Amino acid sequence: MVNVPGNLDLIEAPTKEPERQLFYIERCKELLAASGQMTDEKKLTYHISTFGCQMNFRDSEKLAGVLESIGYERVESEKADLVLYNTCTVRENASTRVYGRIGYVGKIKKEKNPSMVIGICGCMMQEPDEVEKMKKSYSFIDIIFGTHNSYKIAELLYTLLMNRKAKEKNPSLKTHVIDVQKEATGIVEDLPVRYDSTFRAGVNIMYGCDNFCTYCIVPYVRGRERSRKSCDIIREVEELASRGVKEIMLLGQNVNSYGKGLDEDITFAALLDKLSDIKGIKRIRFMTSHPKDLSDDLISVMSRKETICRHIHLPLQSGSSRLLKKMNRHYTREDYLTLVGKLRAAMPDIAITTDIIVGFPGETEEDFKETLEVCEEVSFDSAFTFIYSKRTGTPAAAFPDQVPEDIVKERFDRLLKVVAHSSAANASKLVGKDVDVLVETVGHSLEGGEASDGRTPETGDDAVTALTGRLGNNLLVHFEGRKSLVGEIVRVHIDECKDFYYLGSLCVLD
Ligand code: SF4
Repeated sequence: MVNVPGNLDLIEAPTKEPERQLFYIERCKELLAASGQMTDEKKLTYHISTFGCQMNFRDSEKLAGVLESIGYERVESEKADLVLYNTCTVRENASTRVYGRIGYVGKIKKEKNPSMVIGICGCMMQEPDEVEKMKKSYSFIDIIFGTHNSYKIAELLYTLLMNRKAKEKNPSLKTHVIDVQKEATGIVEDLPVRYDSTFRAGVNIMYGCDNFCTYCIVPYVRGRERSRKSCDIIREVEELASRGVKEIMLLGQNVNSYGKGLDEDITFAALLDKLSDIKGIKRIRFMTSHPKDLSDDLISVMSRKETICRHIHLPLQSGSSRLLKKMNRHYTREDYLTLVGKLRAAMPDIAITTDIIVGFPGETEEDFKETLEVCEEVSFDSAFTFIYSKRTGTPAAAFPDQVPEDIVKERFDRLLKVVAHSSAANASKLVGKDVDVLVETVGHSLEGGEASDGRTPETGDDAVTALTGRLGNNLLVHFEGRKSLVGEIVRVHIDECKDFYYLGSLCVLD
């Protein structure tokens, strides 16, 4: 519930979304203009710090879209008029980092800009204890909201601005706005989005997760699975293509179960098939795939359609069937290996990446060896390896037999060696070949990415410079070319493999 002191909002807002939020965008504009805070000459600035996964980064693009529609201008520094922290709660140390940032921004507000707006949102705010802590210890925070209603940022900001206005007459009033919904309601479409890149974009296809892996907090903070209607997804991708976007990443906690609960009869494979026909989209990626839901139809569509990248991120988590059961993953080591066999039979060049947890409660040396064996057998192209982190609120946090730290560390190092070996061996197979590359940035970045405003640094477009691009297998290549190639797909000869990235040369440099 929103805490609005007094009946301040006399103009009736629409009850339907997105009309309601579009209404509040206009009201915020009027209010900021009337108070002289925002004029044609003077813009207010905003900054969003995003923690966690691609879903959060995507949510931040939506928050930015609404703020820019109100008239805020983005800045990279936290010395802004409005600062939002979009938080993550997957691992406990992510929270510690957020508290550090809040302390820092609180000081800026106190010393330099008392009218600054500070907001906290995201997964951490779906946990009642964290909200209580924020309320008690950080009274300078103005807006708190969760994952289920982040589309309401305009409404919440408007409420805060009105509260502040009321406080001028009645100093005892509290102004802060707290609105955290326990459960997700429907999916709100058609609000403004500020895409971070001009040539690639993340597209949500579903939200939430029904799987309840015993180590994971996601089902508790992101709610049950909800799929977007295929017509809304297709419309968004068509619009992105018309703006010049070449690569899309379909996002969901478990994309393979897309379609469940929708009125239409559609699967993830069928959705991919449709999206791969959209003109202008040259590459489609997706994450994350749960092995238990990976269908033969999906493998078939991946192998038939050229626009779908020959890369799959397929979290293994453990190579021990005993531990997989304790993790509630619903597949065995054998099931996983069978899937990998099917993928490789259909697409011999497919890159397979994974997530692995080391030190899950009760993990024995035998279990761990089984994980190493699976890694050797699959020969992953890369792996995100995690030391098990006890997450309060999940069943595994209460499991006995937490593995001692020194043993976990030693296993972790062994696992890294095995994965590094297979990554390097697989990557080196492309040396001497010509491959398609999406040019992502000027300079030799190991992260890829793009200048934050979608433009490249100020040197002549024709000058030959260092470029970084991404292959279909998700690895980066550094090569020389004109900066006007950023955002284009070009052919690059792979000269050298540096284990987890390449050096190459443009096939045609005229
Ligand atoms: S599939 Fe498991 S690990 Fe992934 S989000 Fe759902 S509960 Fe978490």
